[in-house]
Amino acid sequence: MRILVSGCAGFVGSHLADRLIEEGHAVVGVDNFLTGRRSNLDHFDGLPRFQFLEQDVTEKFSPDGRFDHVLHLASPASPLDYLNYPIESLEVGSSGTKNLLDLALAHGAGFLLASTSECYGDPLEHPQKETYWGHVNPVGARSVCDEAKRFAEALTMAYHRRHGLNTHIARIFNTYGPRMKLNDGRVVPTFIDQALHGRPLTVYGDGSQTRSFCYVSDLVEGLYRLMQCREALPVNLGNPAEITILEFARQIQRLTGTSAPIEFRPLPEDDPKQRQPDISKAKCLLGWEPTVQLEEGLRRTIEYFQRAG
Ligand code: NAD
Ligand code: UDP
Repeated sequence: MRILVSGCAGFVGSHLADRLIEEGHAVVGVDNFLTGRRSNLDHFDGLPRFQFLEQDVTEKFSPDGRFDHVLHLASPASPLDYLNYPIESLEVGSSGTKNLLDLALAHGAGFLLASTSECYGDPLEHPQKETYWGHVNPVGARSVCDEAKRFAEALTMAYHRRHGLNTHIARIFNTYGPRMKLNDGRVVPTFIDQALHGRPLTVYGDGSQTRSFCYVSDLVEGLYRLMQCREALPVNLGNPAEITILEFARQIQRLTGTSAPIEFRPLPEDDPKQRQPDISKAKCLLGWEPTVQLEEGLRRTIEYFQRAG
């Protein structure tokens, strides 16, 4: 198959492209390098089944050739990035999503939206099932991500209902692994960077807020299965193993062997207090569940950051 991946120079997009190529498909990666990096594409150099287009997906574009799938991952993803690029985040969720849906429609291709657990906001239901409508502050700082993705989901469902387009919505929960940017502000690279350089690990609030971290190869497996099935309604993809941020900081201290202390800092606005995916739907529909334990995934990620310097 020939598959377009937007956001291909990013963390998840580059791993997904690897997997698609491994499976024998041809990939056309699209990215404008807003938050991604050219170095994430270096290993594709000279591969005949990989082609790259430097392109902002919020602008109309007509890539050559036919596509079987359009996978839309382009969007700033880390809170630091989407707070730095608030308008761009809303644009890529709205006009970017519309342009790629139109492209999928023109090609009779499948479409997959990389949505997010941010759609649940600061959730009052725990763990979060796909049927939960969420608890989002529509005008808070994080709304540029939450509402962009909620709009993108609504638009995707509208194309499915109006045009019968074969669409998929993955609600992705916190995912980590090699190729994240050390300075993207997300907790995994931040704590590893701090630990490896002997700087204090900055825990926001009292660290009692929870997250559930999924290793990137598990997420990619879920995305690959989802794009091949016929489900249009959202599907959670994440690892249900939940941990407080304070426990997480201690685990990073242990795994890196750092003597760096923990330092408490103010909790950012609207920071979700708890987050854990209910993955019963993905288990039943896709026969999918994560296989990489947090400790193993963190060891691989720490090793990557040590090698990357
Ligand atoms: P990332 O920032 O590493 O990658 C996003 C990529 O999109 C970057 O390469 C960036 O340059 C590109 N991009 C942004 N705007 C663009 C535009 N207008 N045109 C073309 N390219 C553009 O982020 P990531 O962690 O790889 O996330 C990928 C997707 O998965 C995002 O849509 C994100 O919302 C979603 N997601 C990720 C996580 C996670 O934990 N990693 C969690 C939930 C959702
Ligand atoms: N966090 C933290 N210290 C940091 C960065 C993040 O305590 O240096 C916390 C953040 O407040 C949140 C959690 O870690 O509660 C996960 O943050 P991240 O930015 O990785 O993703 P989020 O789940 O908030 O989108």
